[in-house]
Amino acid sequence: MSKGQKTAFVTGITGQDGSYLAEFLLSKNYRVYGLLRRNSLPSFGNVAHLRHELDFLFGDLADPACLSMYISKLQPDEIYNLGSQSHVHESWAQPIATADQTGLGALRIYEAVRNVSPKSKVYQASTSELFGETKISPQNEDTPICPANPYAAAKALAHFDAQVYRKSFDLFISTGILFNHESPRRSPDFVTRKISLAVAALKLGLKGSRIPLGQSGRPVISGGKLELGNLDAKRDWGFAGDYVEAMWLILQHDHPDDFVVATGEVHTVSELCETAFSVVGLDWKKHVVVDKEWIRPTETGPLVGDYSKIKKTLGWQPKVKFQELIEMMVRSDLARLS
Ligand code: NAP
Ligand code: GDP
Repeated sequence: MSKGQKTAFVTGITGQDGSYLAEFLLSKNYRVYGLLRRNSLPSFGNVAHLRHELDFLFGDLADPACLSMYISKLQPDEIYNLGSQSHVHESWAQPIATADQTGLGALRIYEAVRNVSPKSKVYQASTSELFGETKISPQNEDTPICPANPYAAAKALAHFDAQVYRKSFDLFISTGILFNHESPRRSPDFVTRKISLAVAALKLGLKGSRIPLGQSGRPVISGGKLELGNLDAKRDWGFAGDYVEAMWLILQHDHPDDFVVATGEVHTVSELCETAFSVVGLDWKKHVVVDKEWIRPTETGPLVGDYSKIKKTLGWQPKVKFQELIEMMVRSDLARLS
């Protein structure tokens, strides 16, 4: 390690955000250690292209022993806790695993920091889902937290404990309350990527086993149709590459705090469809049908964030706009599938 080089320990390194954050930290000359779940075959997810530049440590957020051992050995300058069962829909099917990985996983990190590396700064990946069915719009750091699904409930535990540990033990634990952020690396479980994959598959006329798989391992189009849930749901969609810079800035601040990270712009799922299909000149209404299976037991939002605190305090603001983001995703899937 070169003199003065900072170290970061990142959980969730193989995920969408982990990959952009790893690229960002490497560009700033950090030594980056990533927690990697052991699979029967080597699997590096979104960081396969960085596998020679990163240091991987096998482990799991379910295991406090390994977290404590790594944090004690590394004494990292910064810890980014991005690891999570991150999908709302799936959290109804796996509520206990979600609570364990997403809620208790964070607490295990805080406990390890408290006990073996109290100088490490921690970034916790909080979420706009914390605001649930709020009637307040836009949401900011003072909006009441009222989770409406098991994922959000687990994230609420992690969020509140970040504040409790910060105050009780004088630890540098900060949270970023991130609104939805997407990219070509987004899992096809999420609506933006499901749509961009479906648009590309329809445009290219893919059939049978050439159709990519989406949510629950099902093809993203079936009988030439894209099946979606609530088309009226409203979200604030930004670009993941912009949001990892916010995570880093949050840890460079002079004290630990909570920050909303968002674009401040709201769109419906219908508008998302219209934008994505228009990139390839197709009419979304001819291809999209509603399937009750994707309608959730409770819906959150409209979720739209007020990012004025982070803009004023840390100078962060989003760069990529909605139209540009969706075009980027559709064009990337067209290139990938053709
Ligand atoms: P993602 O692509 O689903 O990645 C999740 C990561 O967590 C993967 O690397 C996964 O590893 C890892 N993971 C899951 N369970 C684990 C466990 N038990 N032990 C260790 N690692 C585990 O999620 P993302 O979009 O990058 O999001 C990053 C974080 O931000 C998550 O905490 C998410 O909940 C939160 N967040 C995301 C958004 C968003 O819009 N993207 C918004 C707000 C908050 P495997 O590869 O082994 O599965
Ligand atoms: P979330 O905001 O973290 O739950 O991100 P998602 O991308 O999973 O969902 C965003 C919104 O799209 C939610 O309000 C969903 O109800 C809505 N939605 C509509 N159809 C679908 C679908 O087929 N899949 C997913 N994942 N979400 C859908």
